[in-house]
Amino acid sequence: MNNAHTPHRVLVVEDEPVLAGTVVNYLNRAGFEARAVPTGTEAVPAVREWSPDVVVLDLGLPGLDGIEVCRQLRGFSDCYVIMLTARVEEDDTLTGLSAGADDYMTKPFSVRELVARVQAQLRRPRVASAALQRSFGPLVIDPGARRVTLGETVIEVTPTEFDVLETLSARPTTAFSRRDLIDAIWGPSWVGDEHLVDVHIGNLRKKLGDAASQPRYVTTVRGHGYRMGTGS
Ligand code: CA
Repeated sequence: MNNAHTPHRVLVVEDEPVLAGTVVNYLNRAGFEARAVPTGTEAVPAVREWSPDVVVLDLGLPGLDGIEVCRQLRGFSDCYVIMLTARVEEDDTLTGLSAGADDYMTKPFSVRELVARVQAQLRRPRVASAALQRSFGPLVIDPGARRVTLGETVIEVTPTEFDVLETLSARPTTAFSRRDLIDAIWGPSWVGDEHLVDVHIGNLRKKLGDAASQPRYVTTVRGHGYRMGTGS
């Protein structure tokens, strides 16, 4: 992350030049340092070299598509990723979140709304908190280091996956509704499909080797949402 005195950097990966130009313009006017690249192939080295805070990533790109770009980014970057999808690609939205995107917007979208989403991502607390480690059997969540370990193994989680786990584990006896989690993580002004939460929980379960049918760490509360702990 940049220090507080430099503008936050936003990389826009979009192959439609007019849309890319408009988004970059709006972001620059909102006080960001934004630039665009037109292909996924250029996106990966651009993130590596420029270290943006947020990547606005079109799903439908020539060559390397948005999903693959996101997967590659997650190998070395914890920047926020907002995926742009077309309505016809709704399954792809879920795949995008599974690949490690933090949020998504469906085309056509309002550029103003996209700028608000970028700002919302950056308002999310990224500063290491002083909270104590939390243990659930072999699972340890360390809010200070923003690290998750399972036994001796460090589990690689995305910023959003960490925030989900952090929020649930802060109040382990509380059942959170999807909206509660969205309010806590994305902020109360977030509008969209609340099942986004389910996708992030699904990713977490996969990484933790946790099964929804026999939960050890995250339990589904039927008709409500999720809570930390076993199903019993
Ligand atoms: Ca496109």
